[in-house]
Amino acid sequence: MRQYQLFINNEFVDATDKRTFNGVNPYNQETLATYARAGADDVNKAVAAARDAFDNGPWPRMAREERSALIKAISDKINENKKLLTELEVLDSGSTLRKAGEDIYLSARNLAGFAKLGLTDLDGELEGVSKAGFSKNLLVREPIGVVAAIIPWNFPLKMAIWKIGPALAAGNTVVLKPSEETSLSIMELAKLIQQIGLPKGVLNIVTGFGPEAGAALVRHPLIDKIAFTGSTATGQQIMQAAAGNLKKLTLECGGKSANIVLDDADLEMALDGAMYGIFYHAGQCCEAGTRLLLPNSIADEFVQRLVEKTKKLKLGDPMLPTTDVGPVVSQKQLDRILGYIEKGKAEGGKLLSGGSKPNSPECARGFFVEPTLFDHVDNASTIAQEEIFGPVLSIIRYTADEDAVRAANNSIYGLAGGVWSKDPERAMRVAKRLRAGTVWINEWHLLNERAPFGGYKQSGIGREFGIDGLKEYTEAKHIHIDEVGIRAKKTWYDTVVPKE
Ligand code: ADP
Repeated sequence: MRQYQLFINNEFVDATDKRTFNGVNPYNQETLATYARAGADDVNKAVAAARDAFDNGPWPRMAREERSALIKAISDKINENKKLLTELEVLDSGSTLRKAGEDIYLSARNLAGFAKLGLTDLDGELEGVSKAGFSKNLLVREPIGVVAAIIPWNFPLKMAIWKIGPALAAGNTVVLKPSEETSLSIMELAKLIQQIGLPKGVLNIVTGFGPEAGAALVRHPLIDKIAFTGSTATGQQIMQAAAGNLKKLTLECGGKSANIVLDDADLEMALDGAMYGIFYHAGQCCEAGTRLLLPNSIADEFVQRLVEKTKKLKLGDPMLPTTDVGPVVSQKQLDRILGYIEKGKAEGGKLLSGGSKPNSPECARGFFVEPTLFDHVDNASTIAQEEIFGPVLSIIRYTADEDAVRAANNSIYGLAGGVWSKDPERAMRVAKRLRAGTVWINEWHLLNERAPFGGYKQSGIGREFGIDGLKEYTEAKHIHIDEVGIRAKKTWYDTVVPKE
């Protein structure tokens, strides 16, 4: 069995009290690996290492080209080890082989993108502020300091990269806490990082539990910024913990994204889009298309074809390339999802497909849920309002485009949304009215590390990716250079009030 320690100051060390915990394969419940279980003392050590690296080490002051080259070297290592990392993610998270392969490929590609983004010179003279012969006004973007990165289990390595890529590119140092459910590929990443030899303390990784290692990290007074992806409930707790020393925050939290099919959509395409939107990774994506809005005029035919397609999905061993849907990550998630299905039935949704654990032998030992379709769901009901994080689709029928928009926006979340239509102008009109950070037209799930991603409303604060994302890891400093000099002016009053 694989055994992993904490990664602090470029060294692997046990937890101070030697405690450990196990990682389990959600497909067969076998123990996969043992990890050091970080407590508050270990978090102190990791933060001290990152603090020292920021205050005294070379990283924040290094030329951005040099930092970028080291980040690109990590991306290259991920590429070289993609087979191993892919297989580990399948075993650890229940991702299908196809999904995990894409995740590792994208982890390397996104990281290379962040390395390139880190070359962007964000500094310069502020236009329209300086006055010739009087003053010069410069904007300098500086790293914030020590970043605590806390990530979930649905895309383990990719989530780690989305945090450490821009944080490091902007010159910060990092303490990363992976999810207790999926630390395997990330601890393999630690080994690769050790080989590359980032300066000591620049990137530290502590494995452990949310209420323990996570809570110690987010309340730590020497952390300057928290970058979090996870549930809205945990995001709210983190915000409270961050208040202690007013840490900067980016939060990417829950979603309940509306997938709107207009009556002129290419039906075959929209059907595939609806399936991909909800059943990709068994619905365990914050931006999943969990509410399908169908116009009454085509709903019956659409639903009938959707049921046929859903019943054909192949559940089973995620390591097989033929498997479409793997297990969900844990018993806790499985129970949570089945609980929501019961609520859906109790609140009057019409169950068309799925609705329980599959009884096939290949799913017997795993945390599987059948792909589940509920029709005639009321947008106000629990399964249309709360994030389920499982393969459960709520179908809501509507009459006019405005009704679809109203229902889509009637949510505490605003992470993503989608529109299916053959009419680009009509689709754009709907897209612009959705209160969500990403809207796809005739597409789903596609993100790009150069385009901002994040949530309106309770889906989050701030943006990841692109220049907006990079700026979230910087402080803006204004340097005013006075070309006359205060002593040359008679009084303070003369410097600010124009002469008549
Ligand atoms: P889920 O319930 O879907 O696992 P969470 O939002 O609870 O999602 O978890 C996302 C990440 O947040 C995980 O790494 C988890 O360990 C961490 N976490 C959970 N609770 C806390 C907390 N109170 N403080 C800091 N981190 C936490």
